[in-house]
Amino acid sequence: MRNLVVIFCLGSGFCFAQSANTPTRAAAPTLAEARAFLNRAQSKLLELSVEDQRADWVKSTFITYDTEILAAKADEDLIAATMALAKESTRFKNLKMPPDMARQFQLLRLSLTLAAPSDPKEAQEVTQIATRMEGIYGSGKYCQREGECLDLDQLSDILRTSTDPAKLLDAWRGWHTVSPPMRPLFQKYVELGNKGARELGFADMGAMWRSKYDMPPDAFPAEMDRLWEQVKPLYLSLHAYVRWKLREKYGDLVPASGPIPAHLLGNMWAQEWQNIYPLVAPKDADPGYDLTAILKGRGTTPVDMVKYGEHFFTSLGFAPLPKTFWERSLLVKPRDRDVVCHASAWDVDSVDDLRIKICIEIGAEDFSVIHHELGHNFYQRAYDQQPFLFRDSANDGFHEAIGDTIALSVTPEYLKKIGLLPTVPDSSKDIGLLLYKALEKVAFLPFGLMIDKWRWQVFSGQIPPDKYNESWWKLRREYQGVAAPVERSEADFDPGAKYHVPANYPYARYFLSFILQFQFHRALAKIAGCTEPLNRCSIYESKAAGERLNAMLSMGASQPWPKALAALTGQEQMDATAILDYFAPLQKWLDEQNRGKAVGW
Ligand SMILES: [Zn+2]
Repeated sequence: MRNLVVIFCLGSGFCFAQSANTPTRAAAPTLAEARAFLNRAQSKLLELSVEDQRADWVKSTFITYDTEILAAKADEDLIAATMALAKESTRFKNLKMPPDMARQFQLLRLSLTLAAPSDPKEAQEVTQIATRMEGIYGSGKYCQREGECLDLDQLSDILRTSTDPAKLLDAWRGWHTVSPPMRPLFQKYVELGNKGARELGFADMGAMWRSKYDMPPDAFPAEMDRLWEQVKPLYLSLHAYVRWKLREKYGDLVPASGPIPAHLLGNMWAQEWQNIYPLVAPKDADPGYDLTAILKGRGTTPVDMVKYGEHFFTSLGFAPLPKTFWERSLLVKPRDRDVVCHASAWDVDSVDDLRIKICIEIGAEDFSVIHHELGHNFYQRAYDQQPFLFRDSANDGFHEAIGDTIALSVTPEYLKKIGLLPTVPDSSKDIGLLLYKALEKVAFLPFGLMIDKWRWQVFSGQIPPDKYNESWWKLRREYQGVAAPVERSEADFDPGAKYHVPANYPYARYFLSFILQFQFHRALAKIAGCTEPLNRCSIYESKAAGERLNAMLSMGASQPWPKALAALTGQEQMDATAILDYFAPLQKWLDEQNRGKAVGW
């Protein structure tokens, strides 16, 4: 992930202190002043962002008491400056200016995800609440017995590996005991966050989040629904098949035609289901090769792994990674200190100080992850000539989508071309590979959609506090077809058991990313001249695909996202039919398996 500037209003009292609607008494500003302001703002933000990223890099690759303090300090400086500049920018609100300037002002204003009210006491309260909620989540533990406490990682491991329903239920229930104390905090955060958003001229916080998509905030939910309706038939087929296989395993615990109990899908939130692949795998699904064994057998090193990834991009016509990438990246988990191992891609100076941070395990999974992370790096470098405020993806779904698009090109054909596989398995083996991928990518879609559906309704007041939990499960049932494994009530606060809710982190981007990556892949495969089924296409070695990809990447955030989308795909609309195309052989197979069985819930 790129280390994006996530703006929280921290610190005491120093927050957005002026309403965007406050009339200014000073003389009307000129275009030249607006231009000078933007220049000053961007050089200030660039300078502080580089300092922030350096501090963050050191902290993430060497976690100590001091590096954490230094990183937090750099964060605060950047946030305070962004606040001050955003506030100052309201002076130019009514000035007529060229679209690219107006867009930079807009992006500056929208870089906030939590706008604190102007009242200093309220501002302090909401920032403290945000920190507190994240703290409750981060330190959350479930103690089965005194002195025997499990954290989220350990509980997730049980969900991932166990097939004992009693153990699964205990782990699921245990984690959901962590969030009820957040409920009164969350209610206050909604109230104060909304107040801040209104002072900035938005109807509520949900409307503020939805204003980032180059369309009226009220049009965005309908756009999400339109995409969901396109892909829903595939989800229904997958859901019906998985329910039937789980019923074979767990008996009447799984209903023949109702929603699936949420603790049986291999993941705490039932958001991705690939961990239960062994329970649902088709007979004869073995693709006939084991990339992990091949890589290990050849004595592949971590640097070799990254070289494979780099070679993918140079084969498309991109320049090799800078020398400093190899000097400054962290590729191996150090033996003598704590680091954040979660893989991420960085552009420390926002120009070409590209790096990745990953504790590489030689194997198929990290082989894909490396291709994904480098996708971020090549995106970052492609837009490095843009003004600072445009050095970002076209909308927040695009950055993740690019990494995943590249990972979709890691096909058996590609592995054969680079000499890792002797032969490509025949297409009868595709069903297993496709089913595994669908458990990850298709199963996620309704979850990716419902999180912010719930929050938008909470922010708008459509869901009142005394219906928080009930409405959460109503949406989970409606979209995902999953149900709570035990009775829930308003004494629970199950939304708080998902990180992004207490962390104030918008979620719609993940849904968009999962839609876009297949749309990108389909367009690029076509440009590369691939005539095979989409799941067998890799854009490896296609200079034509590389050129079109670069055309979009180099735009950064300088244009409304439909323009960027069109630069690559020729379409200005997001289109979920590419997922249907990609999984077409699986859909056919699923429908054969589902014959005579209930579909839906
Ligand atoms: Zn990523």
